[in-house]
Amino acid sequence: MDKKKIINDIKQEYLIKRIRAEEASEQYISRLKEDKYFDNIYTYYNIKKLEYLKSKYEIENLNLKKEVLELQKKIDAYLESKHLDKSALSPKYECEICRDTGVVDGKICSCVIKELHKRLTNSINSQKNFRSFDNCDVKIMNEQDKKATKILKTWCDTYPNISKININIVGGAGSGKTFLLECIANEVIEKGCFVCFKTMFELNELARLYHIGKSYELTDCMKADVLLIDDLGTEPILNNVTKEYLYNIINTRQVNKLPTIISTNLSPDDILNRYDERIFSRLTNKNLCINIQLDSQDKRFMEKKS
Ligand SMILES: [Zn+2]
Repeated sequence: MDKKKIINDIKQEYLIKRIRAEEASEQYISRLKEDKYFDNIYTYYNIKKLEYLKSKYEIENLNLKKEVLELQKKIDAYLESKHLDKSALSPKYECEICRDTGVVDGKICSCVIKELHKRLTNSINSQKNFRSFDNCDVKIMNEQDKKATKILKTWCDTYPNISKININIVGGAGSGKTFLLECIANEVIEKGCFVCFKTMFELNELARLYHIGKSYELTDCMKADVLLIDDLGTEPILNNVTKEYLYNIINTRQVNKLPTIISTNLSPDDILNRYDERIFSRLTNKNLCINIQLDSQDKRFMEKKS
């Protein structure tokens, strides 16, 4: 994943967006100006507006302000009488905060960060369309799953102001673990954050490739705002790789206060037996972790049919 290239692409697109928006309003105005009445009044309005704005730097001229507002009303009335769109007089920027420049007060605008995170998320996750909490069919859920879903939804609503940064969603095959994991991914992406969603099998493979110096995608997983690991326990244990990198990922993310959400079929005892004390203690730390136990019944029907 080439972050620099993504940023450059976004910058180029913003420039084009901005020019298009400005050209569209200029063309609109020049068409309107073919009418002499509009041409006169609009030109006069711009002269007065400029005079007024200049006066604001010294002593605000309230008479000029009144005049500008009167002219504005005349323009509006003219456009209304012709059923024309008055908002098209100024460029329609997608982001009104930075006016599609991508910069506010010398800083990158939040719209750029949001777009960047969206693209990073898309580039790193093979699965692009995550399901959402809207797809939950609450009516047919049992109490245990309803409660679990509610806790997870509340966590998402509170994110990033959360105290528990690890969630373990525990349940058997078909219990809805992956579905809920996707719902969380979807919510966090909506908040403009960079999400990495991997099965433990995929993560294990990325760790192996990293270990032999063939791919560095693992570092993106490490740095993601939220990392979601599906199906912990289904991966093969590779010597010097699986346990070492898993510990490293979980520990580094905890130190950096970055959430890691795991789905698994394993009980805490299984985790202790399969991995080791260090991983076990990171994943079961009561101050940092939420443990969600799903009802074990197969409920592939939990998702609403649309
Ligand atoms: Zn912006």
